[in-house]
Parts: sequence; C-alpha cells; structure tokens
Amino acid sequence: MDKLIPVTQPYMPPLDEFLPYLNQIWESKIVTNGGRFHAELERSLCEFLGVEHISLFSNATLALITALQAMKITGEVITTPFSFVATTHALHWNGIRPVFVDIDPVTMNLDATRIEAAITPQTTAILPVHVYGYPCDVDAIERIADTYGLRVLYDAAHAFGVRRHGRSVLEFGDMSVLSFHGTKIFNTFEGGALICRDAKTKRRIDHLKNFGFVDEVTVIGPGINGKMNEVQAAFGLLQLEHMDRIADGRARVDERYRAALKNVPGLLLPPVPEHSTRNHSYFPVRITRDFPVTRDAVYDALREHNVAARRYFYPLISEFPTYRGLPSSARSNLPVASEISHQVLCLPIYPALTARDQDRIIDIVLAEAGLTQHAS
Ligand SMILES: *Cc1c(COP(=O)(O)O)cnc(C)c1O
Repeated sequence: MDKLIPVTQPYMPPLDEFLPYLNQIWESKIVTNGGRFHAELERSLCEFLGVEHISLFSNATLALITALQAMKITGEVITTPFSFVATTHALHWNGIRPVFVDIDPVTMNLDATRIEAAITPQTTAILPVHVYGYPCDVDAIERIADTYGLRVLYDAAHAFGVRRHGRSVLEFGDMSVLSFHGTKIFNTFEGGALICRDAKTKRRIDHLKNFGFVDEVTVIGPGINGKMNEVQAAFGLLQLEHMDRIADGRARVDERYRAALKNVPGLLLPPVPEHSTRNHSYFPVRITRDFPVTRDAVYDALREHNVAARRYFYPLISEFPTYRGLPSSARSNLPVASEISHQVLCLPIYPALTARDQDRIIDIVLAEAGLTQHAS
C-alpha cells in the first residue's frame, strides 16, 4: 500500500525551537489566563495581519458563539450552507434561526444578490464565510447591511493573511473569526481569534471569553470559557516566525497542480480572485458533468491509493438532521450549493507535500480523466 497522503498536515517547526518557550512557561508557572505569550501573540498577530483589535480563543467555534453574544444577535441570521458545520452550530447554540441563502457559482461564497430576498422582520445579521480563503463580495454585503441595519460577522476561518486591495479582509464587517485548528494554515494545535473594530468591544469580548469576569467580584454577563492557554500561544508565536516557509510551500503545491491539471476537460480549477492575495489554504477542484466519471469516483480512486482527498463541503450544512427541516434548507432554495457540493474535491495541500507525492495524486486524477494510464 502506498504511504498515506492526508488532505493537509500542520507545519511543525523544529522541536528544539519550541523548548525555550516551554522552559519559560515552566519557570513562570503561568499557564493560562492571559499570560505573557498570550499578550505577545495578540500583538504579533495584529501586526502580521494588519488589524487593530484581536482576541485569542481556544477555538474558532467558541469565538463565533462569543461574537454573536457580544453583538446580542437574535432572531434570524442569513448564512451559507456551503461551509464547515461549526458556522451554523454557532447560531444554533445562541438560539438563532439560520436562514440559508444560495452561493455564487464561481466564488462558492454566499451570493450577495440573493441576500435581500431572504430578509424578514426577524433578520438581525449576516454570517458569510470566506470559503477556501476567497473573499466574499464584502462591498455588496456592507451595502445591504447598512441599508437594512444588519450586523455582519465573517467566518474567516479560511482567510488567514488574505488581503484585498492591500487591506486585510478581516477589516470588513463588524467582526471576523479565524481558526487556528491543526488543519488550518496557521495553527496553535487548537485555537482561534475574534477580530473587532474598537478597543471597547475587545475589552467586552475579553471579559466574555473569561466567564464574564471583569475583576474578582464583577461578572458582566453569562460569559464562557474560551481562553487560549500559554502553550498554544507560544506555539503560535513560533509558527508566525515560519509563515514565509509555510506560504511558499503551499504556493509551490498550488502552482504544480494548476500546471498539471489546467487542460483537463470537465475539471475546474479553484478560482483566482482579481484583487486579493491568496493563502493557498485549500485546493478545491470541481469535477463537472463534462468529466468522464463522477466526483465520487475520483474520490474513491484517490482513497484506493491512500490519498485522503476531502469532499469539503459535502453534505451541505442544510442537509444535516439538525437543519434539514428549516424552510430555507429546501434543495430548491439552494440549487447552486447542492450542485457544487457534489462536484467539489479538495486535493492535498501542505508545505511538506513532496513533488513525488503530488505527482502520485495528479496521475490518479489524470487517469480518471482518461488522459494517462497510471502504473500502480
Ligand atoms: C475550521 C472551521 C471552523 C471551526 O474552527 P475550530 O477552530 O475548529 O472551532 C469554523 N468555520 C470554518 C469555515 C472552518 O473551516
């Protein structure tokens, strides 16, 4: 059996570079609750990402839940079914009704032209996702939010480091959430962050992620435990030092796929945004009707050769038992998302993926396309 190729793999800096951080944690005995590395990572990330106010979390899901709490969002929120299930779960955990709107056939993000038709008197906010790091139509979404008085929370779990017209994509909307899970391009094992617009809001978020505590005797509300610990924060600081290598490694894999797969009939390459940088967080190809076999046949062929490509995002969130009974979950309301969820296949991409292993993946895809005979 060929060696397993995962869909992604965290970048692990040399262990001996991490030991000095651990030594300091052992020395200080400060392991969590806003220690030195936590403060340093917040500062360093602000600088690296080009944002002003960031609050670290133990994961992105808690950051999403806390963001909705901080903005007191209630009623209905317009969102996309084409995402990781945590996006909608964060609404559910706040007792908010998700209203699914279809996606754009090219960018695969929430289709801004369909938002207005989904607004009701109960609508309070929009929760779009920058899927695969491709920025949403942030200008159109802002116009609609301003017109109807809605808040905007971006799930930016895939959009670490992405800039649009030179400006961080995290600057749009009222708040944005990043994920630092081990499968994301920048990771702290588990982790996340909430980006907001002003210092006052950041202070409230910092209280909310620590049970609502302001000081020993003051609790401002029903907070939660969403804190990032010192080991995670230290690992984040070390990862940041390696971001150039991580970015270069991913860009190399992306280029090689594009060169090898560009003329395959029926296979669509991931779209390239015109005014934004790319972080190469995913490599989602689409196996369309013009390809000789189905997406699942390609997926199975890769699996047979121990390549763990993933069908992100299939099934749609709106198809899971918790959500499929909602009126907006009807397939007739989501034709584009339904079609794309049966076409999309994320090929492995990570800095340590060798050219040889990547060629194994490419050969299997080309063989399924009927373009080569692959020897195995
Ligand atoms: C990974 C991911 C999340 C959840 O992140 P965690 O840090 O694992 O909680 C949320 N939304 C999207 C779009 C994701 O890809």
